[in-house]
Amino acid sequence: MTSTFKSDIIRPDEIERYLEDGADFIDEDLIHRTLAENRRPDRARVHDILAKSKNIETLTPAETAALLHVDDLDLLEEMRAAALEVKLKVYDNRIVTFAPLYMSNHCVNNCAYCGFRSENTGMERRKLSMEEVAAETRALTGTHGHKRLIVVYGEHPESDIDYITESIDTVYRQSVETRGGHSCIRRVNVNAAPMPIDHLRRLPEVGIGTFQVFQETYHRETYRRVHGSHHLKSDYRWRLYAMHRAMEAGIDDVGIGALFGLYDWRFEVMGLLHHARELERRFDGIGPHTISFPRLEPAQNAPATTDTRYRVGDADFLKLVTVLRLAVPYTGMICTAREPAAIRDETVHRGVTQMDASTRIGIGAYSADEKDGQHEERQQFMLGDTRSLDELIRDMARQGFITSFCTAGYRIGRTGERIMHLLRSCKEGHFCKLNAVLTFREWLDDFGTGETRRIGEELIRSELGSLAFNGKAQRRQFDDYYRRTSAGERDLYI
Ligand code: SAM
Ligand code: SF4
Repeated sequence: MTSTFKSDIIRPDEIERYLEDGADFIDEDLIHRTLAENRRPDRARVHDILAKSKNIETLTPAETAALLHVDDLDLLEEMRAAALEVKLKVYDNRIVTFAPLYMSNHCVNNCAYCGFRSENTGMERRKLSMEEVAAETRALTGTHGHKRLIVVYGEHPESDIDYITESIDTVYRQSVETRGGHSCIRRVNVNAAPMPIDHLRRLPEVGIGTFQVFQETYHRETYRRVHGSHHLKSDYRWRLYAMHRAMEAGIDDVGIGALFGLYDWRFEVMGLLHHARELERRFDGIGPHTISFPRLEPAQNAPATTDTRYRVGDADFLKLVTVLRLAVPYTGMICTAREPAAIRDETVHRGVTQMDASTRIGIGAYSADEKDGQHEERQQFMLGDTRSLDELIRDMARQGFITSFCTAGYRIGRTGERIMHLLRSCKEGHFCKLNAVLTFREWLDDFGTGETRRIGEELIRSELGSLAFNGKAQRRQFDDYYRRTSAGERDLYI
């Protein structure tokens, strides 16, 4: 079954068409050389690089390599401040939240770091039925108050493109009554294996948000070591060009990522940068909408998770987050609940824009009402932050960040070239702040509990006092929407 599945999926011509003189865009010697040549950047050079980044320009590989080597404590502090400045300029003080929904843990691959790997016989294999997808969605949007999901699939004929599209469609069809109105999932992002173009074309038809595939490691030898030589995922270039195919299939909102801890972290940051620049170069300036940088977590029967050679410590992790923010200033950055709460909170002050909350990664765990939600034999890896959405929103509000449930962008066509232009010119934050306030109003009325409500109301009051409008008509529209939202109408956006 696996070999036919493999030949059905991988189309060699959908790799070769993107190569240039037979080469792909990851030149390992060049990356190593660039890292070696930029080892000791002086203060003046670092200042020049930070100025470029604050001007919302993508950095070059040499500039990025220089920042990766900064060790001076004062300069590191300046980088942290510059990263926050860039984030506030592009995204304002908004933070976006989502929940992962694991649909199926069947997998034909045997990735040495993942609990879902085929050789892990200790894993309970399960795929959600459509009734279960509906129940999970209703729990996520009705109990926790989520509006955005990322749906996650193992790679297997059981979770093929038909299953993927049917399950996404099922998510969108759920609506739940709430305290103040009703709630539903308004944006479904997807994390799945690389697909051929004809499969990818079916994703915009069901209305997905971002399509994510992580390269895991950009280093070929490591890639081979952890993915073997005969699995679907063994093909480095099939994965490397997943986003090229997605763009060609009409998905102009893509997310890239690397799994930190498999190989040298500086090399992986350079890989991500080359990937972002390659997408910009090939697709009219449209780079990745998000970058993810998961750190390797313990997982059941996953040998790579106990190999500590390339483990990334907290200080290096925070540095790599800061450098990514500065190197690709327009991109969204995702820090997941793999990380402990204190680290996640710190990353928000260095440029992270999206976080998951009330996360459960066991298949069917949201509707099962399992209090702790952590079961090694059912989940891909172990979580570091188990805060509920209510708790996360409260903690963010205390630090001056407003949680936005705005999903207007992709629904009114602010994607691809349009969103890139708005992000680069720092105009995106403007619409989104108005929508952030409207959706935060909804959420507080529908789901906020005691202390979260109190702090949330304070934050809304201060935001209402400082909103900037694009003319009187927009002000009138906002006031009208705010009044109607407070009265129980839902999903009004500008
Ligand atoms: N099966 C698809 C794939 O491999 O692309 C998509 C789903 S996979 C469950 C999502 C991501 O989880 C992977 O791309 C990988 O980066 C991450 N992951 C796997 N094992 C992990 C671990 N032990 N710790 C942290 N992240 C892990
Ligand atoms: Fe399968 Fe993805 Fe896990 Fe690899 S990372 S074993 S492909 S679910």
